[in-house]
Order: sequence, then structure tokens, then C-alpha cells
Amino acid sequence: MPELPEVETVRDGLDRLVVGAVVRDVEVFRDYSVRRHDGGPAGFADQLRGRRLAAAVRRGKFLWLPLEDSGAALLAHLGMSGQLLVRDPAVAGDWAHPHLRVRLHLAGARSGAEYLDFVDQRTFGHLTVVDLEPTPDGAPGGLGSDLPAVPEPVAHIGRDPLDPAFDADAVVAAVRRRRTGIKRALLDQTLVSGVGNIYADEALWRARLHFARATDRLRPSEVRRALGAATEVMTESLAQGGTSFDALYVNVNGESGYFSRGLAAYGRAGEPCPRCGAPIRRDAFMNRSSYTCPVCQPRPRHGRW
Ligand SMILES: [Zn+2]
Repeated sequence: MPELPEVETVRDGLDRLVVGAVVRDVEVFRDYSVRRHDGGPAGFADQLRGRRLAAAVRRGKFLWLPLEDSGAALLAHLGMSGQLLVRDPAVAGDWAHPHLRVRLHLAGARSGAEYLDFVDQRTFGHLTVVDLEPTPDGAPGGLGSDLPAVPEPVAHIGRDPLDPAFDADAVVAAVRRRRTGIKRALLDQTLVSGVGNIYADEALWRARLHFARATDRLRPSEVRRALGAATEVMTESLAQGGTSFDALYVNVNGESGYFSRGLAAYGRAGEPCPRCGAPIRRDAFMNRSSYTCPVCQPRPRHGRW
């Protein structure tokens, strides 16, 4: 799965390369890739044709392009293997990716890009055109636009820690009202979005909190420390870059090696904790794994897994 910093890299690239362009035409090569769109492939194309891409907006791992003067947006779910490729045939030739599912033909992009391609090998991802609805707090719907609107399928998703409108006090209070473990709370997209398994483990290692610490027994300062650490690791990962739009090609399949250099705990079972040297421990957790330092992050007596 792509993590938040990778989706943000894509958002930033779309912002620079295709925002402002008009959708001239749409080709759907695999109907399944627009399966969530009411009206099927033809309706999907009709809603996009002639519309200007007004912005590129992200909340958590959700990415959308509001369509000018329509009250709607193109919403992209990248799934496990989805990619958005911006292509300029003058530079890249007319080569098409073997897993090309949907192609938007663009006109008037500042970058000269002519295609926005949705490529998806495993077809878990999909594209839809959805209505925008006003945000309950009146703040922008996500990072990338001042528009106080959010796609209907994203409305129940919490803001992510990189969102300027993220309300840390409110999230700290909401986390402590839950009766769960701190890692489950970090992964709960209705509380705070965009924190995946890797970043949750890294944040908890930095905050010196075991993943099973009960949220209703944590002090506000501890919850704040965990959220702050999550913000920190994601910001650092973004700064490291890794994937780039510069070659008019972006890979968002989560296998780009993003941030692998900087991992302190995640995926390092048996290796020394960078802080104290104790071997990192792996526990099964929600059909996945959790990595902790047994010394820096002692296991609580009344934990919640
Ligand atoms: Zn340690």
C-alpha cells in the first residue's frame, strides 16, 4: 500500500503538471477500474469531458481533483498497485503501459502533458467522479485547495497530521475516549488519517510507547507525543523524496524503497534498537506485525491489542 508521503508526492506532482488542464477525452480500457462510478464507464467519461482540473487535493491517502464549475471531483483510490502517470508523448513517445486502465486526454497543461494515465496491475484501485459536500468545520477539505468541500466518500475520514486544519487537541481527546490500544487508534482512519502500519510503528518507537498501551490510560501528553512523532516521521519521509514527478513518471505502488533508510523499528526484528541496542521484537498484530524495542517500549500489564 502506498503510504501518505508517497500519495503527497503524487498530489504535489499533479498540482504542478496537470492542474489547470482541461479533460479533452477519456478512454476506459478496463471497466472494472471505474466500477464504483454510478453510470458506468460512459457516465464516467461524460462527467469528465470538457471539465478543467481545478486543484489536486489530499486527505490521508485519499486524492482528488475538483472539477471546475461542477461541484464534483475525480477521486482516485490507488489500492495496492495503482499508479497515476502524467505523460507527454513529445518526450516519452506513444508507449502505453501494459496495465493502462484509464487514460484522460488533456489540453492546456502548463507542463505540456497530454495524458493522465491510471495504471493498475492488480486492479484493486479505482477512479470515480463523485459529488463534493461542504466540510462540517468550514475548513478546506484537505491539503492542496482552499475549497471547504470534500468528496462524499471521504467525509467520514479524519484529517491527517500534515493537514493545516488538523486539530491536535480534539484528536488527543477523541483518542483518550476510546477503549483501545494506541496503535489501533493511530490506524483508525476516522480518528486520524494517513498513518499506516510502518509509520505507526516508527512513531510509537520514537514516542517510547508500546503499541498495546490502553488509550484511556494514557496521559494527554503521551497521546500528543505519539501524534507529534507520526507527523515528524512522515514529514522527514517527504523531505527525503524518493519518488519524483520530474521524469513525467510516478510510481505509487509502495515498493519504491521510500524511507527504508530511516526506519528504526519497522521490519528490523532481531536487529539492535538504534537507541539502546536491545534486539527489536516482532509481534503479530491485526494480521500484520508490530515492531517494538522491548526496553524503550515496555509492554503494559493491561494492554489492549
Ligand atoms: Zn531501545
